[in-house]
Amino acid sequence: MARYTGPVCKLCRRERTKLFLKGARCESSKCAIETRPYPPGEHGRGRIKETQYLIQLREKQKARRIYGVLERQFRNYYREAARRRGITGENLLQILESRLDNVVYRSNFATSRAQARQLVSHGHFVVDGRRVDIPSLRVKPESVITLRDRSRDLIAVQHAIDTSGDRPQPEWLDVDKDSKKIVVRDLPDRAQVDTQIQEQLIVELYSK
Ligand code: SF4
Repeated sequence: MARYTGPVCKLCRRERTKLFLKGARCESSKCAIETRPYPPGEHGRGRIKETQYLIQLREKQKARRIYGVLERQFRNYYREAARRRGITGENLLQILESRLDNVVYRSNFATSRAQARQLVSHGHFVVDGRRVDIPSLRVKPESVITLRDRSRDLIAVQHAIDTSGDRPQPEWLDVDKDSKKIVVRDLPDRAQVDTQIQEQLIVELYSK
C-alpha cells in the first residue's frame, strides 16, 4: 500500500494551486501557496514554456496528488475507466470519488484525504458490516459506512466534523453526523463532483 510520503505543500506549489492536502492549514495564511506562490526548486521562478503536453501532464499530476494515488494505480484506474461504457474522463472521476478514503473525507469525517486514509488503514471503519483497512476500497451504491463501536468517540473524527464548517456535503452521500454513518445513495455523475480537475486533459494525455 504505497503512498507519497514527501513534503506535500511542494506538490501544491508545483501545480501552482491549492490542492487542500493539509486540512485546516490550507485555509490559513500559513498556506505555502499564499506565501510562496511559485514552483519549488532553483528554477521555480523561471519562465516555463507551456506546451500542450505539459498542460496535460500537470492536470494528471494534479489529479493524482489530490486523491493521493501513485502513478501505476492511477493508470490502472484510467484503463478501467476507458473500458467502461460512457465518457472515460467522467468514469475516471467516478472511480476516484468512490475510494473509501475519499468518501470519508467528503463526508467531513476527516480534515484531509491523508487523514481519511490513515483512519481507514488503522481499521476504524466498517463497510456493510465488515471491518476494513484498505483506503482504496471502492464503495458501491447503497454501501453503508460506519465507525467501529470502539472508534465511535475518536477525537480526530469529532474534530473534523466540528470544524467542517461550510464544506459542502455531496448530494450522492447521506451523512448522519450524530450516529457517524454514511450511506452511498449512488455513485456521483460529473455534475456532482466538486473538483478543479479537467479530466479531458488526462484522457488526452493517456490516449496519445
Ligand atoms: Fe497545499 Fe494545504 Fe500546503 Fe496550502 S497548506 S500548500 S493548500 S497542502
